[in-house]
Amino acid sequence: MNILVVNAGSSSLKYQLIDTDTNIVGAKGICERIGMDGSLIEHKQLVKGLKAKLASPMKDHADAMKLVVEYLTDAEDGCISSMNEIQAIGHRVVHGGAFFSGSILMTEDVLEKLELCKEFAPLHTVAHLMGIKGCLEIMPDKPQVLVFDTAFHQTMEPEAYIYALPYEYYEKHGIRRYGMHGTSHRFVSGEMIKLLGKPAEETKIVTCHIGNGSSVSAVKGGKVMDTSMGFTPLAGVEMGTRCGDIDPALVLYIMDKEGLSTDEMNNVMNKKSGFLGVTGFSSDSRDIEDAIKAGPTDPNYEKAMLAVNILKHGLKKYIGSYASIMNGLDAVVFTAGIGENSPMLRELVCSNMEYLGIELDKQANERAFRCSDPTRISTDSSKVTVYVIPTNEELVIAKDTAAIVASL
Ligand code: ADP
Repeated sequence: MNILVVNAGSSSLKYQLIDTDTNIVGAKGICERIGMDGSLIEHKQLVKGLKAKLASPMKDHADAMKLVVEYLTDAEDGCISSMNEIQAIGHRVVHGGAFFSGSILMTEDVLEKLELCKEFAPLHTVAHLMGIKGCLEIMPDKPQVLVFDTAFHQTMEPEAYIYALPYEYYEKHGIRRYGMHGTSHRFVSGEMIKLLGKPAEETKIVTCHIGNGSSVSAVKGGKVMDTSMGFTPLAGVEMGTRCGDIDPALVLYIMDKEGLSTDEMNNVMNKKSGFLGVTGFSSDSRDIEDAIKAGPTDPNYEKAMLAVNILKHGLKKYIGSYASIMNGLDAVVFTAGIGENSPMLRELVCSNMEYLGIELDKQANERAFRCSDPTRISTDSSKVTVYVIPTNEELVIAKDTAAIVASL
């Protein structure tokens, strides 16, 4: 089945056309600056290896979808001959609140519930709704399926998702842990379960999705027991520009000391913290690793080392505590931009973890860089298996969409 996977942001729209029978991506691309001056589309035809980047006016997401379909069906740049070859559309949706514990066919009722999720992720949800409506306008007859980043985490027990705040806040405002990156945690834990070769119900896995945004999950028996992000994606380990877990009282203290408004404080924690805040020069792990590689004489070395060590420390704490709540650990998985591409970070995290049964194969770890397949980086004698597994959220979205459409 040919599924068009759509990830709509407020001014951007990423897409991939995936054949779910072969898992082949025919084409992919991104529309940027939608609704602004200078909007453009970057389209890649992967079978022929063609690439096009073109300025094209797009006043809204419907315009963007129209352009995407034109490119997909173009005689030169396209990979299908007509829109009829697209069987359905699968949307990435960031927040499904407590309404959605799995992927679902878009209906009026579903859209009404999605409207209510604006409370939790206003910018993202509004953008997703624009993407969905844009598709409805251009392809009114195609089934659309919504796949939620929060859904995989809906298996947590209340002890993991209820905060020790007045309970009425949960009842009145839905304040609880939701978790993010669920589609990625689901994909890599699913792949890891296959690799472990034991019954899924018996598996205990910690998945570390480390990119610009990062989260760690405890997946026991294929179900999430806990995850590091919370009500928002600000919680958990240190990230590119987000602070992760801090003493909550600090928020008030810093606002008072620095004379910040709530918006300004929100901006500090989301945009000015993490790697960027600690190093003062970059949120990108490549810049930070370059400074570390340059050695102690580099003026950025110390801060770069500190930023990486803070992330290492946080990851070790999460892995240890998740092994403890699962009463054991079979595997640790690294994924996403940093998890897949930084042997240095993986080595720092997996060193001195023998007590937990983790023994890193340093050479395998060095070799696991930009790998397209799951790669084992623990030794043969390691009690806990450690893998780098490239994530593939788009494939999960396409497969879920195909399965739901096949059952109609
Ligand atoms: P997002 O959360 O935006 O999806 P990604 O998963 O793409 O983020 O991760 C982005 C991070 O991954 C950046 O810090 C980037 O530096 C890092 N990254 C990407 N490629 C490499 C690489 N080859 N080596 C080290 N870090 C990398």
